[in-house]
Formats: sequence, structure tokens, C-alpha cells
Amino acid sequence: MSRQIIVGNWKMNGITRDSRELVQALLDKVDANGPEVVVCPPFTQLALLNQALAPSPIGLGAQDCHKNVSGAHTGDIAPPMLTELGVSHVILGHSERRQEHGELDETVREKAVAASKAGLTPIVCIGETEDQRESGDHFDTLGWQIKGSLPDGFNGIVAYEPIWAIGTGRAATTDEIAETMTFLRQELVRQFGEAGKNIKILYGGSVNDKNAASILSLADVAGALVGGASLKADAFLSIIAAAS
Ligand code: 13P
Repeated sequence: MSRQIIVGNWKMNGITRDSRELVQALLDKVDANGPEVVVCPPFTQLALLNQALAPSPIGLGAQDCHKNVSGAHTGDIAPPMLTELGVSHVILGHSERRQEHGELDETVREKAVAASKAGLTPIVCIGETEDQRESGDHFDTLGWQIKGSLPDGFNGIVAYEPIWAIGTGRAATTDEIAETMTFLRQELVRQFGEAGKNIKILYGGSVNDKNAASILSLADVAGALVGGASLKADAFLSIIAAAS
């Protein structure tokens, strides 16, 4: 199996002092022999963290990008602006962006195309609501999201983040994750053929230092997308240690 990848999504957290401390703690412990590690701070911290991380094995990611390379889009950030700052990955279609900014599958797909063109690796998030899982519609939802959010020739990463597991302390069970991974793999192969076998799928949603080992040992889990626990150096380092 290839190296797993542990991505820290800091969301709207991280002022300069905290970011420096957190990253320094990671730099002290993360080496190139372990899993791949990427931190995704807010846009405002990217330049600073690029300086700190550039000579290290820790990668830098952003939390969103626009679908255009420039233009009249107040408040938005274009993919080439991210690559210029040493960013290698970009999270797209996170459920918080889908909910708070009305992002649709189509928008996410266009962003993924733009990100890839700029040389970034898109991490496209999908996930069902609690209602959808309870009513048994979760696979339908995930199937549509894959179809709608991933462009032809997709060369990025998929992150399965059940919305009900995000920030709730209630991660999906290993059975739920395993069953969903099997479904997602089938859908990816259906959509992309052979190439669909190699698309990495991460799990995200209340991953912490206690449940990381059991989640990361599941077949086909290529890594984790970590929110809250990525803000605490000890917890994030334990998750990294649980990965292969
Ligand atoms: P938590 O790990 O805080 O549940 O957040 C998950 C997430 O949304 C990562 O993108």
C-alpha cells in the first residue's frame, strides 16, 4: 500500500502566533519516513507557513479556490495564487462550503478542473446528512456527489466526510466506513474505469487520537481529513503516528 496521507483542515482557525507554535511542534516530530502530512491553514497563514514548511516533509494545502484564474471575483482566491505560495493541495466542496456558500456539485467540479490545471491536487469532499443516512438514501447521495463533483480525468483525492460526524465527536463506525468505502470504490471504478481503482479516498469526521488507528487500518482508507484534532499538536501527531 502506498503511504497514507493525513490532512489537517484548520478551518477558520489560526492566527500567526498559534500557527507558528503548532507548525513548529509538527516540524519537530514529522519526518519523511512516515505518512504524507499536509496542513491546510486559512489563506492568511499560507505565505508564513510556506516559509516555515518549505524545507520540510510537511505539505501545505488551502481550503478552497476559485474556478477562474483571475477576474472580478471579490474576496476569492485563484488557483495560481495558491501555487505561487507553495501550496500543493486544495480542499474543495467541503460540506461547510456547500452549506454556508451554496456550493453545488457543478461548482466543485469546475474548481477541481481549475485546481488541477494550476498543478494543485484537489481533495474533493463528499458526505451525506444524518437524515439521508437514517432514511437509507446515503449511497444515492454519495453516488450523485461523485458523479457531479469529480471532473473527467480526475486526478485528485476524495474525502468521505459524513456531515453528521463533522465536529460532533461521533465518528462513523468502522463498519459504516468500511461499507461506504466499498461503495465509493465501486462508483469510482464505474465512473473512471481502471483509473478509479487508484483514486485515494480519505475518511473525515471526528477523527481523533483514540479512533485513528482503527479507522486508518481499514482496507481502502488512504488517510484522514482531520478538523478539530489537527489544531492540537499532540492529537495530530498521534493520528500521524497511527497512519502508515
Ligand atoms: P472534525 O475532525 O472536527 O470533525 O472535522 C472534520 C472535517 O470537517 C475536516 O475537513
